[in-house]
Amino acid sequence: MSAFYHRCRYFLLPLFATGLSLVIIQLSQSRFPAWQEIIESLPYWLLPIGIVITTQFNRSRLAYLATLLLAYYLLTTDPRFAIKNLQQYSEIILLGGTFTITWFAFIKDRGLLSLHSLVRILGIILSFTAAFGWLWANAHSKVKFDIDLPDFITMEIRILIPLTLCALLVCLRGIWLSNLASTAIVITLALWTIHFLLPNPLPIAVSTSVLAVIYLLTVLTDSYFLAYRDELTGLASRRALYTLVLSLSRKYCVAMLDIDHFKKFNDTYGHDVGDQVLKLVASKIAEVAGGGKAFRYGGEEFTIVFSRKDTSSILIHLEEVLTNIENYSITIRDEKRKKQTKKQRSTAQGKSHKKTVNVTISIGVADHQSNEAFDQTMKRADLALYRAKKKGRNQICV
Ligand code: GH3
Ligand code: MG
Ligand code: MG
Repeated sequence: MSAFYHRCRYFLLPLFATGLSLVIIQLSQSRFPAWQEIIESLPYWLLPIGIVITTQFNRSRLAYLATLLLAYYLLTTDPRFAIKNLQQYSEIILLGGTFTITWFAFIKDRGLLSLHSLVRILGIILSFTAAFGWLWANAHSKVKFDIDLPDFITMEIRILIPLTLCALLVCLRGIWLSNLASTAIVITLALWTIHFLLPNPLPIAVSTSVLAVIYLLTVLTDSYFLAYRDELTGLASRRALYTLVLSLSRKYCVAMLDIDHFKKFNDTYGHDVGDQVLKLVASKIAEVAGGGKAFRYGGEEFTIVFSRKDTSSILIHLEEVLTNIENYSITIRDEKRKKQTKKQRSTAQGKSHKKTVNVTISIGVADHQSNEAFDQTMKRADLALYRAKKKGRNQICV
């Protein structure tokens, strides 16, 4: 998966989906006033569910954020908890929340019931103290920010400066990591800020409910990938293969692929280089045409399933994979170079430390035969693979 595609999928797509959902909610909310009451009660359900589920899945940062949002929602909307004149502290709350979210973007998820939770609570208190300190210092400082802002920006510059800096940091971190949890934190900061900048178009009930749903989706999607994606190569896992099997029709064919002499490769270049090569080979296998779906079966073995196809029509696509991998010159870094001192490196200048290697794969293919279980077809593909190895490797056997 290219870095750009990864960023689109885990950063831009969730942002776009959230924006679209908010627009749809806003439009339907004004059309159906009866929804108002339901929407206002949603955070009472969704946020606690979010806290429980994110805690269960060790997503402690999201659990803390959901707890803080629930506390804020209760304090602003529930008459039993409402604090008088909360409005006058809105700048401290906005900045304190912003500092907390920014800090959360840079720390790791840790167990909730551990020493780390003390650090988290201390961090939250410090964030709000820093917000108070910044605003107090500004109020008592003789130096005033005197910048003319466009009319539509109603916020004071002393709020805008830390807010913009934090937004920049959180966004860069989100783009850099491009994972669902950090994108959820970017969205949290965006909605938190919008709530204070534009309270009317985006009521707090809507934004907190949307955030609770995002936290739940983050956890569920991550767990799905954990179960159905292979972590090293990013390909679908063996579990995903057996899920696909349930939906296969009678007509399909299976290819088993195995890297040639990979043990020797590992012994020569080390396990880490072996891992890198495995990833590159997997990326080439994933590009298979003809509707083939690639899986990492285990170790250096892969499976491709062609649904509603037979061997004669897909051999050409497997040959393409075979030659693509054979012709792919993989550049590996000379590990010795890392251990060299600067001086040694400069005296060795001019000599190339890059080394290119090539690997090959062998493939066995089998068509599904009537009344045959998937495992039996795969077993025959495995036997064909064995024949390809015996015949000299880097070839396909049917
Ligand atoms: P053949 O051509 O007959 O397939 O020979 P081979 O050496 O590839 O086959 P063998 O089954 O003897 O060895 C497979 C090797 O694959 C052993 C193991 O070190 C390596 N391997 C399996 N999984 C991984 C992995 O995740 N990372 C790395 N680096 N190596 C792996
Ligand atoms: Mg093997
Ligand atoms: Mg092998």
